[in-house]
Amino acid sequence: MSDVIQLLPDSLANQIAAGEVVQRPASVIKELLENSIDAKAENITVIVKDAGKTLIQLVDDGVGMSETDARMCFERHATSKIKKTEDLFNIRTMGFRGEALASIAAVAQLEMRTRRAGQTLGTKIIIEGSYVKTHENDTCPTGTNIQVKNLFYNVPARRNFLKSNPVELRHIMEEFHRVALSNPQVSFSFYQNDIEVYHLKNGKLGQRIVHLFGKNYQQQLVPCQEEIDEIKISGYIGKPESAKRTRGEQYFFVNNRFIKSSYLNHAVTNAYHGLIPENTFPFFVLFIELDPKHVDINVHPTKTEVKFDDEKTIYSILKSTVKRALGTSSLTPSMDFTVDTNFIQHFQKRDIQHSSDSSFKPARENNPRDESNLKNWEELYIDAFESERFEKQARNDFEQESEELVFESAANNIDVKTDNFQEKKETNTVFQVRLAYIVTPVKSGMMIIDQHRAHERILFERFSKMYENKQGQVQQHLFPETIEFNPADFVLLNEIKEEIKKMGFDFEDFGKNTIALNGTPALATNISGRELLLGVLSEYKRNQVDSTYDKTEHIARSMAKYAAIKKGNPLNKDEMSSLINQLFACENPNYTPAGEKIYFLLDESGIEKMFN
Ligand code: ADP
Ligand code: MG
Repeated sequence: MSDVIQLLPDSLANQIAAGEVVQRPASVIKELLENSIDAKAENITVIVKDAGKTLIQLVDDGVGMSETDARMCFERHATSKIKKTEDLFNIRTMGFRGEALASIAAVAQLEMRTRRAGQTLGTKIIIEGSYVKTHENDTCPTGTNIQVKNLFYNVPARRNFLKSNPVELRHIMEEFHRVALSNPQVSFSFYQNDIEVYHLKNGKLGQRIVHLFGKNYQQQLVPCQEEIDEIKISGYIGKPESAKRTRGEQYFFVNNRFIKSSYLNHAVTNAYHGLIPENTFPFFVLFIELDPKHVDINVHPTKTEVKFDDEKTIYSILKSTVKRALGTSSLTPSMDFTVDTNFIQHFQKRDIQHSSDSSFKPARENNPRDESNLKNWEELYIDAFESERFEKQARNDFEQESEELVFESAANNIDVKTDNFQEKKETNTVFQVRLAYIVTPVKSGMMIIDQHRAHERILFERFSKMYENKQGQVQQHLFPETIEFNPADFVLLNEIKEEIKKMGFDFEDFGKNTIALNGTPALATNISGRELLLGVLSEYKRNQVDSTYDKTEHIARSMAKYAAIKKGNPLNKDEMSSLINQLFACENPNYTPAGEKIYFLLDESGIEKMFN
């Protein structure tokens, strides 16, 4: 048999290599942006059409290329950035592999115009699927202008694999944010389908952050600055109260290269320990600078992972820098994140007044013995209520008693003091504790209901129904309210538009990432339409990484979560009784959609036990 091994033609080899470098339009944006930065551009314009699927264009005013370089740059392993092995350990540029342009040119139709300063004529090259179609002189401004058209036009399988425009655009934004943040000295414009989404003037990092993420970041930024043992850390972190439920805005740059590192992330999170609630994420944009010889950026082809030779030192410097920044900026944690479960100690005045059961009255303040008693009490009720039996019982109790649950009307309330409490029917009693829990007697004992969770369950079922029936109940506004989003959030909003409209939002596109809000869900009376919308968006962002979730269900869940009455919200008796009735009319009154317990039932034997 004759020999069978052959060298692959360049075009095919490039196409294979492209599989690694070019995964989606966002990878092209990243590579082109980095090339422009390496070329010392001061002004960069990014133009995308159809989320980069039909066009990605980058125009820069960098150093440009000579006629020969303009052809060479499309060869594989062609780079001006390193020459010998030692250079690998002293990389100061973003690129160095010389693969990007060759890869992109293998899977797209590419047109480039470029001119070096001082040369009268520039060069125009058209290259499609690695084949050069045109290579000629051209009059063009100094710098480089690259158009990448119809990405994956010759690899249909990959083109079909691309996600929806909003998803692809979000990836593009992510790459753009990274480069824009690490290069505030450069001006950027970003156009999507002829609309200018960003216009970022060059300036300081703080300004760049505010321009990218919104004005409200202005008050939230805390500067960080430290230099120890030739390791320099700088940038901004967010005040604890600005921590979000999405991990989104967390950026590390090592020698100006965006990196991901769960290890370093841990260092920052650790510095916030005790200042922010669990499952929230602080904002940060932090730059770590060190001698390139101490860091290996070569471990991953798409280059977001790096290896430090002394990770531990960086960890501890980072942590202490963030801690110091949090301390010196005279921040006081203004939030109380721990829900005090010893709620009986803290009867609100209001509760005592309205309570028809005076035996609950003595508010016990800081008596150590009481505290230990309370602890036992808590343990007891937790033990007692883990069992299914009680849940069933609770439902039965309510089904039987709901007729009797006629609570005081507002008019009755006026006479509350003159009423003879002892003679009142016990079932008329419902009161609020700690502005968070509703306590009410039921046939078998007493029930403690978490008001927020109960309302969450009620709203969740209603929003889900509205969606199914395609008719949201809208509370129309007298005047529309305009709300401006940052571009990434606006893309997200469009993704969930249909769902939230069916649940009662009424708005229209106002252009420039702005909507006119005409109406909000009639069910959401405790929160402004704006807050609800932002809450739902942030929740959606948080969940979208999980591919298993049901989109509609999650949107209904987050609508419910944000629209539900909060802890701290005073309720009158009518409101409490109606809440209870609505809860037990739900399909599943026991748990919130997220699976949290909504109420506890303390039965008589449990109460008796406590007194023994
Ligand atoms: P790398 O960036 O790893 O060197 P690329 O394939 O991205 O590899 O680019 C190849 C070469 O083309 C670069 O080394 C650089 O010399 C040149 N080049 C690419 N883009 C530009 C640009 N926007 N301006 C000037 N030169 C560029
Ligand atoms: Mg490059």
